[in-house]
Amino acid sequence: MGLLSEGSPLTWEETKNLADHVRKHGIIQFINLYKRLKERQGDLLKWGDEVEYMLIKFDDEAKTAKLSLRAPEILRTLNEKEQNDPDNIKSLWRPEYGAYMLEGTPGEPYGGLLVHFNVVEANMRYRRQEASKLLGPNEVLMSITNFPRTGAHDFTDPPTQPTPNSGASRSLFFPDEAIYLGHPRFKTLTRNIRQRRGEKVVINIPIYKDKNVPSPFKEDFGTLANDESSSAAKEDHIYMDAMGFGMGCCCLQLTFQACNIEEARTLYDQLTPLCPIMLALTAASPFYRGYISDVDCRWNVISCSVDCRTEEERGLKPLKENKFRINKSRYDSIDSYLSEQGEKYNDVPLIYDDEIYKQLTDNGIDKLLAQHIAHLFIRDTVSLFSEKVHQNDLENTDHFENIQSTNWQTMRFKPPPPNSSIGWRVEFRPCEVQITDFENAAIVCFIVLLTRVILSYKLNLLTPISKVDKNMARAQKRNAVIAEKFWFRQDITSDVKKQEDDGQVEYTEFTINEIINGKDGVFPGLIPLVNSYLASMDIDADTHCTIQAYMKLIQKRASGELLTTASWLRKEVISHPEYKNDSVITQRINYDLLKKIQKIVANEISCPELLGTCISSKTNETIPAAVAKAEKVPI
Ligand code: ADP
Ligand code: MG
Ligand code: MG
Ligand code: MG
Ligand code: MG
Repeated sequence: MGLLSEGSPLTWEETKNLADHVRKHGIIQFINLYKRLKERQGDLLKWGDEVEYMLIKFDDEAKTAKLSLRAPEILRTLNEKEQNDPDNIKSLWRPEYGAYMLEGTPGEPYGGLLVHFNVVEANMRYRRQEASKLLGPNEVLMSITNFPRTGAHDFTDPPTQPTPNSGASRSLFFPDEAIYLGHPRFKTLTRNIRQRRGEKVVINIPIYKDKNVPSPFKEDFGTLANDESSSAAKEDHIYMDAMGFGMGCCCLQLTFQACNIEEARTLYDQLTPLCPIMLALTAASPFYRGYISDVDCRWNVISCSVDCRTEEERGLKPLKENKFRINKSRYDSIDSYLSEQGEKYNDVPLIYDDEIYKQLTDNGIDKLLAQHIAHLFIRDTVSLFSEKVHQNDLENTDHFENIQSTNWQTMRFKPPPPNSSIGWRVEFRPCEVQITDFENAAIVCFIVLLTRVILSYKLNLLTPISKVDKNMARAQKRNAVIAEKFWFRQDITSDVKKQEDDGQVEYTEFTINEIINGKDGVFPGLIPLVNSYLASMDIDADTHCTIQAYMKLIQKRASGELLTTASWLRKEVISHPEYKNDSVITQRINYDLLKKIQKIVANEISCPELLGTCISSKTNETIPAAVAKAEKVPI
């Protein structure tokens, strides 16, 4: 979840009073960094994934599966390895929001060689095994986007109780003990977001109206109920009221290093229209708080779960205390393109701080980058540590990172950290995590290959920001891959000027199948483009086989031949003998579902409707010496 500074958190009042201080110094830090690094050239492609996991505790007698709150303990052991031998580790482990969550990345980033695709899945498998070794007999590490019963009765191990009248969340359902408390950041963010907003966060996700769901569906929160919950909970919706419902979900992220700032801006823009497409393709979270919902993805849930905007900022009251009306949560899709090519597609009025914008442009920063930064900086800091208040703005970028890393958007433009060999990077953040390493590796390799295709064929995928926003909403709907169409650029291969001269329609609505696999005579398809790119390369048989298995998975998910994770999860619950068509996921249904996932991941049972016939590639943890020598093909 971004930067993890150590220290003692300030109270919300203290933090609030320092909001302008953080903004002011954050901007100075960015200007200093920009001046120092804008000409940085020649960085090579490097990239790495981040996979988030949940710890599940099974009770085979009681037939229950709960979230195990032991992540802090496990993480301590995992981090010892890193501390003892930082140069020889194959994985890095970081805390995440939940006390039941872990984030794992490769020990070092991958480089830009084709052979690296051979180690991605094996490294993911290594991480899973490494962490799994530290678990108790009935504990299992799982890469699932959401735990079906988070916030439902009795969902943690050890058992915990929510505390609606005290603590950080004040949730009716999500106890503070389920937050990772080993670092103060997570609890502080939770409290400050609630206090800044002036009330608890409100998340209402439509319930799946199966035939025995009462109409209207209106829950009785019993003794827990209070005025706030009664007015916030909407009929026919699953109501949630804490940051943990969103930030307690897992995801799959990818970071790429670009050769210079220009290439980073291009990649940032070109990957943006792919965010909703990849969100729909990776959809994996149809269940919330023990109910089946009518959406397939986590995105809106997280967005609402950290929506710190006040009533004024949300447009419910005239502006008095606050400066801006803000149309999105700080967790949402991006609002503006950064490259020159993208400028004309910035069709949504951007809210930004005029003074900051002027300060940035006065310091030689161009309009597009200045407005991006000035837009991020409409937000207040929501977590500040006493040790970090006063910084050397020439050496430090913590205040900049403070605001940057709490703008949780679909894409992130990452400047080089101070005093490092790291270049300008972009992060691709929409994907939901899949249950197997095979699927996660497939998604990751597909996106990496796409970046190469985009750059070498000079593809142009840009569609107006307003259309990308529309696609984000469509992507989350139930069964979006099959049922929805998405705005996409019609001609992605020829130059825009020519298209304008020809009077072509710039963008139109396609199914995901058409976008990924192509539409005869109309659209080439992203995978055919990847394949034609690969055809020009000298690829060894193993690498070829691995990549093809991955591309096939993506193609079949897009065409509907294979189910998305979300569709498969729904099908499992609905066909469970104990399911009563009431959209309720009981302890037993949850137990059986997670047990099945465990068996699929362990390769004890097959699941062809989700994975097809090939469920793991021939990848190795290290590149065989013979292959490595023979194979120096850059991607
Ligand atoms: P955050 O949580 O802020 O996104 P992490 O450090 O958790 O950042 O993950 C960053 C990812 O970037 C990891 O997969 C890591 O391997 C990868 N990475 C590290 N260095 C580079 C680099 N120079 N270029 C590209 N990716 C990198
Ligand atoms: Mg993370
Ligand atoms: Mg991370
Ligand atoms: Mg992170
Ligand atoms: Mg990340």
